[in-house]
Amino acid sequence: RESPKADIALIGLAVMGQNLILNMDSKGFVVCAYNRTVEKVDHFLANEAKGTKIIGAKSLEDMVQKLKKPRKVMLLVKAGSAVDAFVKNLLPLLEKGDIIIDGGNSQYTDTQRWCKELAPTGILYIGMGVSGGEDGARYGPSLMPGGHPAAWPAVKPIFQAICAKVNNEPCCDWVGEDGAGHFVKMVHNGIEYGDMQLICEAYHLMKDVLNLEQGEIAKVFSDWGKGELDSFLIDITSDILKFKDSDGSYLLPKIRDAAGQKGTGKWTVISALEYGVPVTLIGEAVFARCLSALKDERIKSSKTLSKSVVKFDGNKAEFIENLRKALYASKVISYAQGFMLLREAAQEAYTKNPALTNLLLDPYFSKQVSNSQMSLRRVVAQAALSGVPSPTFSAALAFYDGYSSDVLPANLLQAQRDYFGAHTYELLTKPGDFVHTNWTGHG
Ligand code: NAP
Repeated sequence: RESPKADIALIGLAVMGQNLILNMDSKGFVVCAYNRTVEKVDHFLANEAKGTKIIGAKSLEDMVQKLKKPRKVMLLVKAGSAVDAFVKNLLPLLEKGDIIIDGGNSQYTDTQRWCKELAPTGILYIGMGVSGGEDGARYGPSLMPGGHPAAWPAVKPIFQAICAKVNNEPCCDWVGEDGAGHFVKMVHNGIEYGDMQLICEAYHLMKDVLNLEQGEIAKVFSDWGKGELDSFLIDITSDILKFKDSDGSYLLPKIRDAAGQKGTGKWTVISALEYGVPVTLIGEAVFARCLSALKDERIKSSKTLSKSVVKFDGNKAEFIENLRKALYASKVISYAQGFMLLREAAQEAYTKNPALTNLLLDPYFSKQVSNSQMSLRRVVAQAALSGVPSPTFSAALAFYDGYSSDVLPANLLQAQRDYFGAHTYELLTKPGDFVHTNWTGHG
C-alpha cells in the first residue's frame, strides 16, 4: 500500500468545500476530497480540480488511509444532522490525536456537545467559523477556530496559510475552547444582520422621506463606500441599486419585499436573551425580517390602518449627511452590543484595556459616536414623523441613551414587582438590603 500523502481531508464538495480545497491546494497542501454522493468526487477531480495535486477518496476508510498523521479531517457539509452523521462514522476510523474540524455554520451548542463527547477518546474536535462566502473560501476567508486547544498547533500552519490577510496579519487565530469558534461566527453573522437592516433603512428613508430616484440613492451609497463606511455590504448595495433588468428598468423594485432567514441572527438573539445581554439592534433586525415576511397581512392592513405623517421640508443634502453619520454610529453601537455578548459568554477581559467594559467606552469609538449622536437623533425623529419604520436606527439610539443614563425608571419597575409579587426592592441608601413594602396598607 502507498504511504499516506494527504495533509488534510475535506468532506463536502458543495460550493464552500470545493473552493476551500482549491485554496489549500494553491498554498501547497495535498488535500484528499470526499463527498457523501461519491460520484461528485470524480466529477470534481476531472473538472475543477484538473491539473492540481488534489486526490480523491471512494469511501471514508479509503480517505483515512490516505491521510498523514495526526489525521486532519475537515467537514464542510450542511449543519446539523449531516455533521453528526459524518462525525459518528469517522470516530471508529480515527485514533487519539487525530483532528476533526467542522467548518460549517453549526450551532455552537452542537460543537460544545461534540467537544464533550470526544474528550475521552483523545480525538480532537474543532468548530471553526468560515466567513467570506464562496470567493472568500477560494482566495482567503476569515477563519474562527475554537475547540480542543491541543489541536491548534497541528492545523495552524494550514489555516493561517489559506486565510485572508490584513496588514500581513492572518485573519485566523484561536478564539477559545469548546464552541467558541462557532459562537464567534454566530455573533459575526448576527452583526451582519444588523448592518444589512441599517442599510435597508437608510435606503428606505432616502426613497420615501427624501423621494430620491434610485440612481441618486445608488450614487449616495457609492460615495459612502469611499469614506469610513467603506465595506463589502455598502459596495454590493450600490451595485444592486444600479442594476438594470433586461428591459432597461431597475430590477430592485420588482423583488418581493419579504425577507428570508437561515437562523444565525435568531440564534444570536436567543443566546443574548439567555445571557441577559441587551443585543437590541440585532434583535430588531431579526424581527424586521419577520415583519417583512408578513407581506399579505401588510397589504391588507395598509388599506385599513391610516398614517398621519409630517412631510420632510428640510435640506436633503444635510439629511443625507445625517444619515451617513447615523449609520456609522449605529454600526458602532451594534458592534458594541455584539462584543458585550462575546465578553459575557467568554467571561474574559479585553486584551487592549482590561478595565474596558464596553467598546463604546473606548476613547476612539466614544468620540465617534458622540460626534454623530445628533445626526442619529435627527434621523430617528424624522423617520418617526414621516411614518417610515427605522427599527434598527431607533434601537441604536435607545440603547445609547439607556446605556449612558445613570438613572433609569427601573425604580418604578422594582416597586411594581414588589407591589404585585412581593419581589422586594433595594434602597439606594442600603445596598444589598432587600425589603418589601405593603403598598396597599391592607394587612
Ligand atoms: P451546503 O449546501 O450547506 O451542503 C452541501 C453539502 O452537504 C454536500 O456535500 C452534501 O452532500 C452534504 N450533505 C447534505 N446533507 C447531508 C447528509 N444528511 N449527510 C451527509 N452529507 C450531507 O453546502 P455549502 O453552501 O458549501 O456550505 C457548507 C457549510 O458551510 C454549511 O454549513 C454552510 O452553512 C457553511 N457556510 C456557507 C457559506 C456560503 O456562502 N455558502 C459561507 C460560510 C459558511 P451531497 O453532495 O451528497 O448532497
